[in-house]
Amino acid sequence: MIQPYTPDVSLMGKLRRRFARLTHQRPAQLDLTQPTVSFTFDDIPASAAHAGAAALEKHDARGTFYVCAGLFGQEGHMGRFADAAEISGLVDQGHEVAGHTLNHVDCHLTAPADLDADLDANDTALRHLGALPAHFAYPYGEVSPRAKKQLGARYASLRGVHKGLVHDGGDRNQLPGVGIEGADGELVARSWIDRTVAEKAWLILYTHDVRETPSPWGCTPDALERLIVHARAVGCDIRTVGEVLSA
Ligand SMILES: [Zn+2]
Repeated sequence: MIQPYTPDVSLMGKLRRRFARLTHQRPAQLDLTQPTVSFTFDDIPASAAHAGAAALEKHDARGTFYVCAGLFGQEGHMGRFADAAEISGLVDQGHEVAGHTLNHVDCHLTAPADLDADLDANDTALRHLGALPAHFAYPYGEVSPRAKKQLGARYASLRGVHKGLVHDGGDRNQLPGVGIEGADGELVARSWIDRTVAEKAWLILYTHDVRETPSPWGCTPDALERLIVHARAVGCDIRTVGEVLSA
């Protein structure tokens, strides 16, 4: 079972993540015709594969799911994790399935050879389900210049958990993400959607479990749906990460 979200909140951890942002950059060429929001999910609790996916499908939208195949079917602090059949179902419904390491490892702390082995195993498992894992999110948002370089050679984009918007030329090797999580998660996400419109930018939202009683890292199905409706109402396009970057 993976441990509750515990990023390195020390000053050194913060400085390392911030320094990494200056290194190994790969500019994204965005050709946005309108402000754009991507709804993404990490780890993939079963509730995200069901209620999360359903909320998007109800509005004819699709999401990006950053999957750890090593968690398939396990019980965790965000409820049961989705199993292989449920992730395969996401592929069938047209959602994007992306990488998040096999075992939710900290990419900064994992030796390069071990990280490669973990990524190979995860990508192989996801390909067996019909997915083409071209994009990636850093577990815990943890990154270092070395890990960023290694992962950037494998994936078309890498997403962290530092808040921000993506503009043309933004770094696809360390994309920002805004969490729909915690007591004020919906309010925070909504304000970032409004900023996205004002700046005609790209916003990547992420959450974990989607349940009536979510963990501190998740949200309710209603909150997710209200954000989808709000994004559309203020003129945002809703697209997967891959759709935005391959446009
Ligand atoms: Zn994660």
